[in-house]
Amino acid sequence: DTAFPQQTSSQQHDELTTQHITPAVEAIGVHKAFGHLHVLKGIDITVMPGTVTVILGPSGSGKSTFLRLINQLETLTGGEIRVDGEMIGFKKVEHKGQEVLQTLNDKEIAAQRSKLGMVFQRFNLFPHMTALENVMEAPVHVKHMGKSEARELAVAELQRVGLGQRLDYYPSQLSGGQQQRVAIARALAMKPEIMLFDEPTSALDPELVGEVLSVMRQLADEGMTMIVVTHEIGFAREVADQVVFMDGGVVVEHGGPEIIDHPSEPRFKDFLQHVL
Ligand code: ADP
Ligand code: MG
Repeated sequence: DTAFPQQTSSQQHDELTTQHITPAVEAIGVHKAFGHLHVLKGIDITVMPGTVTVILGPSGSGKSTFLRLINQLETLTGGEIRVDGEMIGFKKVEHKGQEVLQTLNDKEIAAQRSKLGMVFQRFNLFPHMTALENVMEAPVHVKHMGKSEARELAVAELQRVGLGQRLDYYPSQLSGGQQQRVAIARALAMKPEIMLFDEPTSALDPELVGEVLSVMRQLADEGMTMIVVTHEIGFAREVADQVVFMDGGVVVEHGGPEIIDHPSEPRFKDFLQHVL
C-alpha cells in the first residue's frame, strides 16, 4: 500500500469499488473497415451499468457503425467489444493446447444480442399491426411467450411510454413521436439490459421531439444503461453521465457532460458552434 503514496484514501476507495464493477459495454481499440473505407480507427469507450453515454459527432463519423457493431449487425475488423464482460462474436476455445478465438454460432450471437435493445431513426413498425401487436410480436415469436402473457407485458410497456390509451391504434393513426415511443416499448418488451438509440428524434417534426426525449429521460432515471447517438445537446447536457465526441472514426474528446460547455478540442468546439 506504499505504491501510491500520493493517493488519498477516498481515491483508493473509488478505485477499489469501480474495479469490481463489470462495464456494461467496453470497446477496446475497435476498428471497422468497409473494403478500403476505414470508418472506425481504434475506438475505446467504456459504459458503466446504469449510466447514459451520449455520442455526438458530425454525419459520417462512424456513430451508427459503432452502435451496429455493438449489436452485431456488423462485424469488427479489429479490436474487441465486451458486453457485460463477455466478448461479442467470439469465444475462447482450447485448440491443440492453445487458446484460440472461435466465431460464435447464430444461436450464441442471438443470445448476446438479446441483452441489447435498439431504436433507430426510422421506427420500422409493422404497418398492418396495432401498437399492441407490434410490441407483442417479438416476445411471442422470438421468446415464444404465451399470447396472454405477451399482451400483459405489451400493455405495461406501452403504458410506460405513455401510450396506454393507444393500444389498438395502427402506426398510420399515430404521430411520429407516438410511433417512436411504440418502437421504444417494443425494444423494452424484450427486457434488454442495455438500450442503444441511433438518432431517435432526427426524423421527427420539432414539436414531437420532446415527448420522445422525455421517455428516454424517464428510462435513464429508472437506471437503464443507455448509449444514445443524438444531436440534442440539451438532452446530452442534462441526462448524460458521459459524453463522447467522435469525428473521422476516432474519439476526439470524452468526459462528463460539462465538456459540452467547456470543450477543449478545437474540432469539438467547432461542432458545438454548428449544432447549438
Ligand atoms: P454516422 O452515423 O456518424 O453518420 P456512419 O457510421 O453511418 O456514420 O457511416 C460512417 C461511414 O461509413 C460513412 O462514410 C458511410 O458511408 C460508411 N458506411 C456505413 N455503412 C456502410 C456499409 N454498409 N458499406 C459501406 N460503407 C458504409
Ligand atoms: Mg448515423
